Amino acid sequence: PDKKPVKVSEMLDVVLELTHMEIERKMVTLQLDIDDSVEWVLAQDTQIEQVIINLVRNAVEAMEDTPEGQRNLIIKTENQQDGKLKISISDSGSGIDKEVVEQLFDPFITTKEQGMGLGLSISQGIIETHDDKIIIEDNVEGGVCFSFKLPIVKSPK
Ligand code: ADP
Ligand code: MG
Repeated sequence: PDKKPVKVSEMLDVVLELTHMEIERKMVTLQLDIDDSVEWVLAQDTQIEQVIINLVRNAVEAMEDTPEGQRNLIIKTENQQDGKLKISISDSGSGIDKEVVEQLFDPFITTKEQGMGLGLSISQGIIETHDDKIIIEDNVEGGVCFSFKLPIVKSPK
């Protein structure tokens, strides 16, 4: 599918519409940290929405053993000042062992009883068609941060 200029805020609205029930039900606190200086990116919007939804669901699921009141989900956008917008999804969950980080993007890798193990593999494929790769970083307060970048474009109007 074709990439076109899409509004970051509209993609995030769709993501939250489809995930806020889960976020609330699991007693997760959501922090939105949005860089308002960037409005438009070049992307296939439904695919990027799917990626963010996958990352949000994984983040929420990773916080099941985190005590209530310490379940923090942060969705952040940052202008990288090199023409790219970094979109990141951070959690205060179980974290990931260094040894398995690379394998997580392979299909059918899951640690969940009901897991399909396809979310990250599909998501990585989508981000690769957007000329980037999802990266995983440790969070300072435990948990992990998944991020990727999209090209910033000027308003098409
Ligand atoms: P699934 O969610 O069906 O297990 P995914 O491809 O989405 O499949 O994720 C693969 C595995 O990566 C998960 O089973 C989990 O072990 C690990 N993982 C993904 N996201 C996180 C996260 N935010 N924190 C800890 N582990 C994670
Ligand atoms: Mg998943």
